[in-house]
Amino acid sequence: MTFRTIQSILAGVPTMEGAGVRLQRIFGYHESPRLDPFLLLDHFGSSNPDDYLAGFPWHPHRGIETVTYVRSGSIEHGDSLGNTGVINSGDVQWMTAGSGIIHQEMPQRAAEPLQGFQLWVNLPRAQKMMPPRYNEITQRQIPTVAVADAVQVKVISGTLDGTPGPMQDLMVAIEYLDVEISGPSDWNHPITAGFNALAYVYEGEGLFDVAGSTLVQSSRCVHFSADGDAVQVKVLDGLCRFLLISGKPLQEPVAWRGPIVMNTHEELHTAFAEFHAGTFIKHKP
Ligand code: FE
Repeated sequence: MTFRTIQSILAGVPTMEGAGVRLQRIFGYHESPRLDPFLLLDHFGSSNPDDYLAGFPWHPHRGIETVTYVRSGSIEHGDSLGNTGVINSGDVQWMTAGSGIIHQEMPQRAAEPLQGFQLWVNLPRAQKMMPPRYNEITQRQIPTVAVADAVQVKVISGTLDGTPGPMQDLMVAIEYLDVEISGPSDWNHPITAGFNALAYVYEGEGLFDVAGSTLVQSSRCVHFSADGDAVQVKVLDGLCRFLLISGKPLQEPVAWRGPIVMNTHEELHTAFAEFHAGTFIKHKP
């Protein structure tokens, strides 16, 4: 086993999104294409409803898949395919924007604080204009693998110790794990060769390379080196929770403006022209 090292550590940047939601942008436009196939990771979390109730009213997407993981709280959703519903604590919503979807995502007032993550995964050129899809995965469908007493892993996508996660036919192969380690303990985990891998720490702190030279704290994202076939995480004490995400890079040109990510500027121009002309949506309920 050859362990990957830390290539860089990304710090979340406070960002205002939607109609006025305060969130942390862990990475986005400025980091692209370093984290290919991943485009963006937002961490929204607050116990103050004023930070999130404005929500993300109706807006378009094209050319990407989004994975929204609500750890606590709830988000109401509606889209141009006719889907409506509420994503609750522990649920995952996975949406393929493909040729175009218009949706809204509205966090609701809840007893518990809102905490969740939205990841954008780029679509390959050949699937950019595919029909849009929408999938809701409930908390019950997401298995937890107890790797050891101190290491509990929720498998959202990918397979861990023979247990597959429910998010299976994404257009780009990704692994998405929600890991909880209580220290002192360590965990080794294989990463597919060639995959870009990252770990976003959202609670506690841990060491994310074998050298153990850097203590990575919460709201920090480790971008692992490209070499090596595994990662090692060591938690000295307390609880450390993090997302471990890896995926196969597309290595295709990225043309990105706002909620639309294509391969060329012409395609971007077409997307915005269609949106203004009312011809953006190709698939209706
Ligand atoms: Fe959206």
